[in-house]
Amino acid sequence: MANIAQRIPKWSTKRVQINPSLHRTKGLLRDLRLNTVCESARCPNISDCFSKPTATFMILGDVCSRQCSFCSVKNGEPMPPDISEPERILEAVKRLNLKHVVITSVTRDDLSDGGARLFAEVVMRLRDYNRSLIIEVLTPDFNGSKDALKKVIDARPHIFNHNMETVPKFYPIVRPQADYKRSLIVLKNIKEMSPAIYTKSGIMVGLGEAEKEVIDVMKDLRSVGCDFITIGQYLQPRKENLPVYEYVRPEVFDKYKEIAGEQGFLKVASGPFVRSSFNAEEMIIT
Ligand code: SF4
Repeated sequence: MANIAQRIPKWSTKRVQINPSLHRTKGLLRDLRLNTVCESARCPNISDCFSKPTATFMILGDVCSRQCSFCSVKNGEPMPPDISEPERILEAVKRLNLKHVVITSVTRDDLSDGGARLFAEVVMRLRDYNRSLIIEVLTPDFNGSKDALKKVIDARPHIFNHNMETVPKFYPIVRPQADYKRSLIVLKNIKEMSPAIYTKSGIMVGLGEAEKEVIDVMKDLRSVGCDFITIGQYLQPRKENLPVYEYVRPEVFDKYKEIAGEQGFLKVASGPFVRSSFNAEEMIIT
């Protein structure tokens, strides 16, 4: 993963479109004191999503207990969970009139349940409000705790996402406190505990991985019954983060999409700007 600085090609460049709808969404999130991964991770799709409007809510604070080198979310000592968060998210869902909600969090290794209880409370609160709302969670690995997973599963989200993020050989650099096998087992356990929940995972490319390694991740994911996959270009969110090794060409994303389909994923999103939650509503099976 040598540092190969390159000009950003056109297919990986997106202009932020400032418009009143984007400002309204930002204002609403400020009013309700809600964090989003959209802002914290400096997502390139923010103007598309906030203008729609949609957002991916990030619960359990905005400080992460891990230090992944690809991520721009702050790390350090997190604050205690705020029990008013489920209610504030519900309020945002109502005001934004969302039909599909994605809830993620920072990693909370400092909490005994990794924050699973708050995930469950948010899901239950949203289900109680509207049974037809599609609820997707994107969780950390909870240090592999089955008890934590069970808490979230028992709240019955429709989609349970846990991202692999990268190929195994890059874990020590990209996700030093995570473990490739443990993440796979998380997805396996979710499927075993609740086959009715769709499982989903994602990988970033452009870090110097070989195509075969990406395909091997797909195979590993299928071996644990993962239903949906997202494949997107890694973009360096801040200069302190890992540099981009390569801007993967659109035709390679198309190839990954085809291969993932052949491997049996029910839904595949693959492209330079694909993120786990980008157009998440298109991933639901009707
Ligand atoms: S792609 Fe996901 S993280 Fe990015 S702005 Fe859209 S909802 Fe937020």
